[in-house]
Amino acid sequence: MKVHRKEIPAEGTHLKGKEETDILELEDSQVRPLGPVEYSVDIGVSESGLFATGTLRVDVELECVSCLKRFVFPVRVQNFSAQVELTGPELVDLTTWVREDILLALPVHPHCDWDRKTLCVGPRLHNLNVEADSKAPNAWDALDHLNLNRRK
Ligand SMILES: [Zn+2]
Repeated sequence: MKVHRKEIPAEGTHLKGKEETDILELEDSQVRPLGPVEYSVDIGVSESGLFATGTLRVDVELECVSCLKRFVFPVRVQNFSAQVELTGPELVDLTTWVREDILLALPVHPHCDWDRKTLCVGPRLHNLNVEADSKAPNAWDALDHLNLNRRK
């Protein structure tokens, strides 16, 4: 998200748009963005710097720490703000601020029932399911052996 300071009028401006999710640098992460990063920010300039306030949004796929199910989590940053000193180049890159605020808005321990509608099956049931799946064929094997033994 780059802003050219010369394109900002003295009274400020409003910027709205989308950024590719690769700005989030989530390649090796459990977090999978499902759409672009949408931003809607007011940009202003003062004597010393450029400031931006507004909202950011992106939908991501997370893995529930409890049941390991993947679920959609809408990241909504309602109070994005960045302040950049205008000492260097004319082009101001706000990408770092956008990335940081979105990463901060991600839950540290994601739970699929964050919306209070989804029912998280929890880790116990999840483990039971896994055990049941892996034990099912063995149980039948055991039964087969039992039948064979009886025939003898
Ligand atoms: Zn869950």
